[in-house]
Amino acid sequence: MEKLYADIIINISHEALDKVFAYKVPFSLIQDIRVGQQVVVPFGRSNKEQTGYVVNLSRTVNYDESKVKEIIRIETDHVGVEAKMIELAAWIRENYGSTMIQALKTVLPVQEKVARKARKYIELTMDAVHGPAMLEEYFSKHYVAKARLLAALLDHHKISWEMASKDLKISKSTVDSMEKEGILHVVTEYYYRSPGQFNAAYSQTEITLNEQQQELIDEFREDFLKKNYKTYLLHGITGSGKTEVYLAAIEEVIKKGKQAIVLIPEIALTYQTVTRFTKRFGDRVSILNSRLSKGEKYDQWLRAKRGDIDVIIGPRSALFVPFPNLGLIVIDEEHEGSYKSEQTPKYHAREVAIKKAQMEGASVILGSATPSMDSYKHAQDGTYRLWELTKRAKEAVLPKVYIEDLREELKAGNRSMFSRRLRDLIQDRLDKGEQIMLFLNRRGYAGFVSCRSCGHVMECPHCDISMTYHRDGRLRCHYCGYEQPMLKVCPECGSPYIGTFGLGTQKVEAALYKEFPQARVLRMDMDTTKRKNSHEKILSAFSDGEADILVGTQMIVKGHDFANVTLVGVLAADLSLHANDYRAGERTFQLLTQAAGRAGRGSKPGEVVIQTYSPDHYSIQTAARQDYHAFYNEEIAYRTMMKYPPVWQMLVVFASGEDKAWLDKVMDAMAEVAKHMDLMVIGPSEAGFGKINDQYRKVIYIKNKDYEILVKAKNRLEQWIDLNNIRKKLLVNFDFNPMNSY
Ligand code: ADP
Ligand code: ZN
Ligand code: ZN
Repeated sequence: MEKLYADIIINISHEALDKVFAYKVPFSLIQDIRVGQQVVVPFGRSNKEQTGYVVNLSRTVNYDESKVKEIIRIETDHVGVEAKMIELAAWIRENYGSTMIQALKTVLPVQEKVARKARKYIELTMDAVHGPAMLEEYFSKHYVAKARLLAALLDHHKISWEMASKDLKISKSTVDSMEKEGILHVVTEYYYRSPGQFNAAYSQTEITLNEQQQELIDEFREDFLKKNYKTYLLHGITGSGKTEVYLAAIEEVIKKGKQAIVLIPEIALTYQTVTRFTKRFGDRVSILNSRLSKGEKYDQWLRAKRGDIDVIIGPRSALFVPFPNLGLIVIDEEHEGSYKSEQTPKYHAREVAIKKAQMEGASVILGSATPSMDSYKHAQDGTYRLWELTKRAKEAVLPKVYIEDLREELKAGNRSMFSRRLRDLIQDRLDKGEQIMLFLNRRGYAGFVSCRSCGHVMECPHCDISMTYHRDGRLRCHYCGYEQPMLKVCPECGSPYIGTFGLGTQKVEAALYKEFPQARVLRMDMDTTKRKNSHEKILSAFSDGEADILVGTQMIVKGHDFANVTLVGVLAADLSLHANDYRAGERTFQLLTQAAGRAGRGSKPGEVVIQTYSPDHYSIQTAARQDYHAFYNEEIAYRTMMKYPPVWQMLVVFASGEDKAWLDKVMDAMAEVAKHMDLMVIGPSEAGFGKINDQYRKVIYIKNKDYEILVKAKNRLEQWIDLNNIRKKLLVNFDFNPMNSY
């Protein structure tokens, strides 16, 4: 029989994770032992019995074998929250590539020894009959301070320490002395740090679900009661009532004594959203966000663990809140890139949510107006149940959308960044006193090269992806490394107007002041939102009518509703369309659909102008028609043809280090390892930024139809990396189905 060793953590807390101890698994336990289990082991010099958790199992051990102690027994009667978390961490480790410690740190909260928040009170202990007599005595002895405090206590029974010291000017020694006399008692009450006041009052004005919503909830309830836990993909345009469906589903779950996790992208985690949940569930709801202090965050975890709340709302990390009896995970705006972790392990919250739900017996609802290609494909395949809401809940007309061809503007001699139509409409709104949002979709933008005369974009002949201009004067493909020199004239039409596409929010602001001197302009981008709360401040200033035009990056398209905005302009749809990764078309469709949804939220109808050099591109055409299904069909055909996710699966191996020759050698060798597994290997090639801080950076893309096979490839490469001690000199990361380009 083979030997088996287990890594055991004795104290499961974030700080102690690096202290892992190796134990031998006795033959009698080999069949039963699993990662996540609680075991009893001999610990320390005295071999005292201690409980610990299995975090890893392996065939070999790094120590002198004879010194490794044996596990005593498996603890079977206690299967705690911790076991579930370790099991989830093990799954994350396996599926995304990281060490077990990194995976555990992802799922466990930072339990810094933050002092509990407490308030001190002074309470009367002497009974009310003897109190007045005592008061008389104090007066007669001219103990004025004591008399003042006792009088207050006789009136209120209990007062805060603050009131005593500040308002009544009572010193600590007075209180101490009276405590000794047995008159009062100082009590300390702990309380949870509150993540903010969200108007926790219940309001009973419940909405009656419309027919479509009701059908979905009936189905959900039936499945849930039958313990038929599924993943539902709720597709419905903004305003179609998705949030009401989430609320109703959560109510079903709470009725059964279970809890719910609601994930919302941080940027959309606004006062308005949270208020809708607190109105429904009162103080049984809490939130997590990046602005909370560590102590505040930790308190929300404690509240969840102790069953003091039923619902937690937060970004990606809220997934790991330890509810005792999880019933539902909702992921709103499931297509958002922020659900994918940027740090190793590079997990996707959607996939982890589904795994976690499976482990704990819970359902998952994914919601979006523009579902990710990944999720919609799952819905088509039947792995997710597709739910569609086709009508707006409140009557509201969809805006009218114009696509303006920038090539035509140039031909007509208009060199401004505003097309003639957009300029006329801006003027019209300024005259009417209505508001305008101008939007620059820079996300993923990385310096593609295009022709301003004919719109031609330089693409890699092998990957169908825009090439990126580098400062050494060359164009490169970031997938396969193909490169060529920068061109002087357009290869399509011979025009000399060829170059990188440069447009920033500051330039737009300056152009607005020049062309519309009377307009009041607010700008929102990375620069203007660095300070705390500046994001909210700019939006509320705009909402209060302090400006006519709001210029910004994608951050302006989410969260707030502005009733007076009747014109939305997308200045250069090409910025996201020609980003250098395979999701460019998908992201453009999402951004344009969201931006268009900003116009005409109130009673006045809205108009949208999309400016582009590629007016015929399907992402732009389908977004203008708000036709998700047409977009999906076009996009899935492209992904199929080019073997991109979600049709094929993709694994990125990224490495960086100071020694370029060594990096080259290692990456070539790893590509060989993958090729020997019969996988499709692209690269190694230089990353988008080939060198940062003197660290050279390279990537390999590995593709296969089967995710499991890529996991095996990752495991093989990890073994190879360990065997050759690669991590000594190089940083190596894995990333499955990347959301960003490298
Ligand atoms: P989504 O989450 O899809 O954007 P919401 O749930 O926010 O949509 O609904 C949009 C608006 O319509 C909200 O003001 C909501 O209160 C209202 N609404 C949703 N469902 C109903 C309904 N069945 N009856 C009346 N109003 C509704
Ligand atoms: Zn051209
Ligand atoms: Zn290429």
